[in-house]
Amino acid sequence: MEYSALTFRPSANIAELRESATIAVSQRAKALKAEGRSIIDLGAGEPDFDTPEPVRDAAKRSLDQGATRYTAVEGILPLRQAIATEANAHYRGADGVTAGEVVVSCGSKQSLYNACLTLFGPGDEVLVPTPSWTSYYEMVGLARATAVEVHGDPAQGYKVDVERLERHATPRTRGLMLNSPSNPTGAVYAADELRAILDLAAARAWWVISDEIYQRISYGEGIAPGALDVATRRDNLIVVNGVAKAWAMTGWRVGWTISPPAVAKAMAALQSHTTSNTATVSQHAALAALTLGEPVDAMVRAMVQEFRARRDAALPILQKSRALTVLPPDGAFYFYVKVPGAGSVPDAGGAFCHALLEQAGVAIVPGSAFRTPDWVRISYAADRAQVIEACTRIAATAEAMA
Ligand code: GLU
Repeated sequence: MEYSALTFRPSANIAELRESATIAVSQRAKALKAEGRSIIDLGAGEPDFDTPEPVRDAAKRSLDQGATRYTAVEGILPLRQAIATEANAHYRGADGVTAGEVVVSCGSKQSLYNACLTLFGPGDEVLVPTPSWTSYYEMVGLARATAVEVHGDPAQGYKVDVERLERHATPRTRGLMLNSPSNPTGAVYAADELRAILDLAAARAWWVISDEIYQRISYGEGIAPGALDVATRRDNLIVVNGVAKAWAMTGWRVGWTISPPAVAKAMAALQSHTTSNTATVSQHAALAALTLGEPVDAMVRAMVQEFRARRDAALPILQKSRALTVLPPDGAFYFYVKVPGAGSVPDAGGAFCHALLEQAGVAIVPGSAFRTPDWVRISYAADRAQVIEACTRIAATAEAMA
């Protein structure tokens, strides 16, 4: 049979699926660069730093010592123990976290997917504070459940509260996606705000998937509060984290979940039919990241300091433009910005991103990816001078379009 005779029709599994806009923007920026265009890429949320040298060295040593074969699907025991130890530094409940509750995966993206597929199914509704990272909506959809958008208040950094969540709850509500510090807004939930939401979820018997991948990239005192800092019970809680962002280890693909043992077992079973374990060498790198202490911890703090310096340098440039509304971020490495045309143009963010890329050579992500099309997301996980230059061009483009 000629290949051309085959007609491709997406299966029902992916019929509704939309490509990841965060990934698509950075791929488009790379393609334009390859064509010779000078592009500043503030699309993907990927630190521009190298993985700390002691972590790379530990990974190289592990290869020479034979870390080249399969491991247990859920990951090597020392790594899961290190993750449990780190979790117990935050959790004060009587039931300390054990390695048996940890499943290591190929990145926190896979961990989130494992959790969504394991916990949600047809007929279920999942509350998604909006704007949220683009993949939450799609993952809930891939589980054939319904993502229910709960729009936050822009004046509160788009954070949601108990009252807003309750308003969107129905008898079919089965879970809630939490993310602090938030991608795309950079908002950080205070401990008491998190506690109130967790109390509501426990009272309503909702699963809470708490994505804490940006926890260490926080500009307040110490690291941002996570669910384990405030939880009094964990039987409805799945904490997701990984090494990608804080340790500049995106390409190693190591994330994990901490969940009740029965959920962990089910997620490991799912993963046993998809990827099996993440790369063995990457697990050893993650183990080094979590256990080497200083100087690796100092390197992480230095990277966070640099993100803060970029934020502090670029934020006033955006704030000075009367054509833009900016949410000042307290964590992660994104500016979330309302652009000209908001409220009158159907996809103001998309139109702005298109004009910015074509006319000013800057790639950023349209807010439609995060279900708020009047906005755009700017990643400042890039060289400081480039971030400043790009934000200057963004402000100029906004003035011209206003
Ligand atoms: N999470 C990052 C972002 O939002 C990386 C790309 C992705 O996986 O979406 O840009």
